[in-house]
Amino acid sequence: MSHRPRDSVADRVLGQGVGEEVLHFSPCGRMARSVVLTRCVAFVISRTATRQRDRVEQHCRDVAGSNGWDPIFLDGGPEEGAWADDVAVLSRALVAAGARLVFAAGGDGTVGACAQALAGTGASLAILPLGTANLAARDLGVPFGLEAALAVGFGGHERLVDLAVADGRTFVAMAGMGLDAAVVQATPALLKTQLGWVGYAVAGLSCLRGQSHEFEVRLDGGEPLIRRAQAIVVGNVGILPGGFVLLPDARLDDGLLDVGLVAPEGPVGWALLAGSVLLGGRHLRGRHLEHYQAHHVEIRADADVPREVDGEIVAPGRSLTVTLRHEVLTVRIPFPNHS
Ligand SMILES: [Mg+2]
Repeated sequence: MSHRPRDSVADRVLGQGVGEEVLHFSPCGRMARSVVLTRCVAFVISRTATRQRDRVEQHCRDVAGSNGWDPIFLDGGPEEGAWADDVAVLSRALVAAGARLVFAAGGDGTVGACAQALAGTGASLAILPLGTANLAARDLGVPFGLEAALAVGFGGHERLVDLAVADGRTFVAMAGMGLDAAVVQATPALLKTQLGWVGYAVAGLSCLRGQSHEFEVRLDGGEPLIRRAQAIVVGNVGILPGGFVLLPDARLDDGLLDVGLVAPEGPVGWALLAGSVLLGGRHLRGRHLEHYQAHHVEIRADADVPREVDGEIVAPGRSLTVTLRHEVLTVRIPFPNHS
């Protein structure tokens, strides 16, 4: 019978033949176990993002080895919320043990879960865009092919970016209440997998008659803006699935959150909104689409409405509070001349 304390992180790491086991006594006299990692790269592969997990994992293992890194692969549970928490806890433990680079292989939800763990640690995040929308990867210029994305991740060119926190959950791209969350909710996983962003568009059509709500939006503690709107979105990435631009001034490193109040009225309003988005978001601004910037955004609605954070549905609610975290995450991006 083993008297060693249970440590799921140490077990997972040592089970993959990476790292050195260290036994020590904690201040209260109990034996503790930890792992020391050097040249360790962690891969967090979303279970839902790829149907060829074994192939992806083997390729990552080969490329990591050829670059002189020891790869560790993290498995998550099937429940998305629990999975994100699991990933954040495991990633943080690996970084504390010495891992300096973590690949998020999946969509924006996977990137957000890894970002939450890495923020403020100095360890770097690399992205393998295997999701549906991949808004963060698009904005950062990370290529979509596995080979090219791995080359960028191991390439060493880095950039500090902002993150945001919505009701305690860290995200990279965008969070929102109302229509945008309803579209995510209405897009079945199969549709997302089979059709990519087109899946969102199909679901969006079914939501166009969605109810508008009265929202109160308070920016940096100022006087509230009161609007009847279809959706309120807040983010550092302003592009939508498919590359359409909703918040053209949004930047990942400008120290500001961009806020969009989406309030089209009738067929003409929807046509104007569609025109704005298709033309890059800078045209035809007006009541159907208002833009603001702030560091801290409090949104209240007149009823429980759908909410999403980085394309993941969270429980419906009457409020959402979003706060900026400036330059807290180091990400691997292509060299400026990367094509
Ligand atoms: Mg910004």
